[in-house]
Amino acid sequence: MKVLILGGTGEARALAAALATRPDTAVVSSLAGRVRSPRLPVGDVRIGGFGGPEKLAAWLVEARIDAVVDATHPFAERISASAADAAARAGVPLIMLRRPGWTERPGDTWHWVDDLDEAARSLPGERVFLTTGRQGLASFAESDRWFLVRCVDPPEPPLPARMELLLDRGPYTLDGELALLRNYEIDVVVTKDSGGDLTVAKLDAARELGLPVVVVRRPPIPDVVSVASVKEVVAWLP
Ligand code: NAP
Repeated sequence: MKVLILGGTGEARALAAALATRPDTAVVSSLAGRVRSPRLPVGDVRIGGFGGPEKLAAWLVEARIDAVVDATHPFAERISASAADAAARAGVPLIMLRRPGWTERPGDTWHWVDDLDEAARSLPGERVFLTTGRQGLASFAESDRWFLVRCVDPPEPPLPARMELLLDRGPYTLDGELALLRNYEIDVVVTKDSGGDLTVAKLDAARELGLPVVVVRRPPIPDVVSVASVKEVVAWLP
């Protein structure tokens, strides 16, 4: 059996590692190529877009793929739509692997918004820790606030006028996040509802310091089978 994993997440790498132990299963992991030096999964890897759903459908047939796992990030909306469309066209079964979103806990002050533009319009603070990634910073370009922008690779303009850039990649610790928030005198944190353990420490730190957090809601997912764990994907595979 040959499985395509659409990746770019820790879950996708965990799944590739889990399937590598199955002698009857060949795996190809696919990455978008956004990050300069990505963390690579074990096994075969291809890098770059497919050119849209029709081309992805043709690729699935040509590569004789038996199952597709969409293990992309919850905010990677276009590739998930493309994968659902392509798998249906090619008649290849598809499952989505989505980690659960974060949930508010006692002591949290979260402001839910629909997108980055709304986040930029509703910042309850002056010194903002912006952790939403390199893409979409244009939404904050007109803001008069001060930003600490943390992302993996340098972002492209337009960018906020008053900002400091911190190039870093998780996982992060509670002590590290507390020190960062204190040192930069941050008074509001902005995040996507990415979920998972690797980047959750900023939320714990914000709670401990009593800081508000602006949380961007996840986009809707296509109408496909969706599970939350590597184990469930392995059980679903034929
Ligand atoms: P996106 O907006 O959904 O995708 C844009 C285009 O990039 C897609 O149409 C597709 O090109 C290509 N693409 C995306 N993921 C791909 C993959 N795994 N393999 C091959 N092509 C892929 O995605 P994005 O938000 O830019 O995210 C890009 C990648 O980074 C994803 O793989 C995602 O898992 C990872 N990531 C995203 C975020 C985030 O916040 N968005 C955070 C962490 C990691 P074609 O149409 O040409 O096929």
